Amino acid sequence: MSIFKVCTARTTYVSIPGRSALRIGIFGAAVDVQCKAVAREAAALGADTLFIEPDAFDRGLPLSMLDGRTFYLGEQVDDVQGFYLRYIPAPYAPSMERDGELVLYEDWFTTYMHTRERASYFVAWLLQLAHRGATLVNGPHAASVMQYKPFQLHALRSLGAQVPRTLISNDPAAIRAFHAEVKDVIYKPIMGGAITRVLDAEALERLEDVTASPVIFQERAPGEDLRIMLVGDEIVSAVSIETPEQHLDFRADPVYSGGEASYREVALPEPVRRFCREAARACGLTFAGIDIKRQGDAWVFLELNSSPIYLDVELKLGHPISRAIARRVVEGARG
Ligand code: ADP
Ligand code: MG
Ligand code: MG
Repeated sequence: MSIFKVCTARTTYVSIPGRSALRIGIFGAAVDVQCKAVAREAAALGADTLFIEPDAFDRGLPLSMLDGRTFYLGEQVDDVQGFYLRYIPAPYAPSMERDGELVLYEDWFTTYMHTRERASYFVAWLLQLAHRGATLVNGPHAASVMQYKPFQLHALRSLGAQVPRTLISNDPAAIRAFHAEVKDVIYKPIMGGAITRVLDAEALERLEDVTASPVIFQERAPGEDLRIMLVGDEIVSAVSIETPEQHLDFRADPVYSGGEASYREVALPEPVRRFCREAARACGLTFAGIDIKRQGDAWVFLELNSSPIYLDVELKLGHPISRAIARRVVEGARG
């Protein structure tokens, strides 16, 4: 019997064991340009792509796990053995601005609980795939729900890589003492999602705001912003990001956010290449976008991104990042 059918009140699942076409999976939207680029490269390697849409649950698309088998859009998808993880949605509480303040919608709790359950489902699915031996670029612990900057700094530091002097704290007294000693201090959130800012006199006045959750305070590292793209052990791209004006965080420049940034290829000394590889391994990443500040001989590591945006660099400099990702995922899919 080649066709297996299960009926529930709502959905009919059909699975066809022994399908021959090789396919990869992408956790990400089919309209996302980066997902498209990876799918195109996978096609060149002979693999079709199954997109698992991040908003599947918003749209009520059928997704089921039945006694260890997984069905998406009514079709069994357990043949897929290689995945690119672009994005899975994190839990959130919907908010809006009212009179200059961020306020929650009245029914925020329902949305928060739904999105929390969905995130748990996606992470469990990824864990299940990893447990079954599927190739995930990247794996569940690196799912975009979580960014562990303090751990990354720990990993980098213990490898001997240079990182800025760092205080991660919710303690105003400790922050004041760090500022008095280090002087040129920036601050940024642990999970990301906000532009890096200078700890100036006005920010020092508001330190009571941080008691509810810790913030990263760091010595300001001078110099240019580098972005390294690593796939497996291969450094596929290393560039300096050039914006016309000097900003603390290059993304604050309208030229960058308008997609008009320019990039210059940089050569990395062997010890820096090694730190990149070893740090990615320590953080469980087979694909990483690594941020470094560089001035002269000082290569100061800031963070590793598990689902970095890279297509602009690929298109402008021709660095084959999508191809490297696709190759790794397709190899995994072939088993
Ligand atoms: P994110 O996850 O938000 O990208 P980063 O740590 O990469 O967090 O910080 C964003 C940007 O802010 C960096 O690329 C850099 O331009 C600037 N930045 C962050 N930390 C420092 C620092 N310690 N010194 C100088 N610039 C920094
Ligand atoms: Mg960054
Ligand atoms: Mg980041």
